[in-house]
Amino acid sequence: MKEQTLASPIEFSGTGLHTGEAATMRVLPAPAGKGIVFRRVDLDNFELRADVGSVERVAYATTLMNRGVWISTVEHLLSALYGMGIDNAFVELDNFEVPILDGSGLPYVEAIERVGIAAQDSPRNYLQITKSFALTENGKTIAIHPSESFSIEYEIGFPHPLIGHQKLEVEITPDNYARLVAPARTFGFYEEVEKLQASGLVRGGSLENAIVLTENGMLNETSLRFPDEFVRHKILDLLGDFALIGQSVRGRIVANRAGHALHTRFVAELLESTEHWKVIPSTVGSGVQLQTN
Ligand SMILES: [Zn+2]
Repeated sequence: MKEQTLASPIEFSGTGLHTGEAATMRVLPAPAGKGIVFRRVDLDNFELRADVGSVERVAYATTLMNRGVWISTVEHLLSALYGMGIDNAFVELDNFEVPILDGSGLPYVEAIERVGIAAQDSPRNYLQITKSFALTENGKTIAIHPSESFSIEYEIGFPHPLIGHQKLEVEITPDNYARLVAPARTFGFYEEVEKLQASGLVRGGSLENAIVLTENGMLNETSLRFPDEFVRHKILDLLGDFALIGQSVRGRIVANRAGHALHTRFVAELLESTEHWKVIPSTVGSGVQLQTN
């Protein structure tokens, strides 16, 4: 397996979910070994790497920051690139928030499928989980266990008639990501909108880019894309935050009621816990590297 990039550039325009600001974004091919690098074209192409060292604020959306320059709400784009197996890309943005589009990863997947994916010269390395690692905080947990493939199991519970208890496990392959995860949209609660807007959040939120839940149903007049669209979006978000690891992973993630703050803390602490993983080239079969401890 080789590292991969886009075969040609793709472009998106829209509004930021939280700032309500208009932005245009281009995602371009990048050389092997580059990773995902954002460029603020409105600030002399100032570069921000999509890695865990750049994460700044994560209450409602994942923000990258370096020397006072920031790019917000990167998680859906990063999720789609990671889910589709894109290792390297430049992301040019003319403002400080990635456009929310329809609130899912589907517009990215469709654009990637339209231009195609190009294999590069370098073999892809994998971060192989060799020993289970877990984090718990206020009843929320995330763990990762050794596995020969990469999968996410997510479980949520909200006392709402459209959600209730939802649990799903998906093996993350490009095909599964495109069909089972990418279409799931952002969701939020109508009763929280006013409070969030008072804090400068969800100013670009609308029924075009989010499922807005009322006490007993939803404001959107369309139907859900999946009966369990909510847990699928949690998988989409977790994958976007997990992409900050900057490398393909072999392991089985199990998450329960987590959110962006715990997702990004998990990635940072996992990377520091070097006795729980090792980096191996894709030419080495995963099974032989597994330890039993
Ligand atoms: Zn999201």
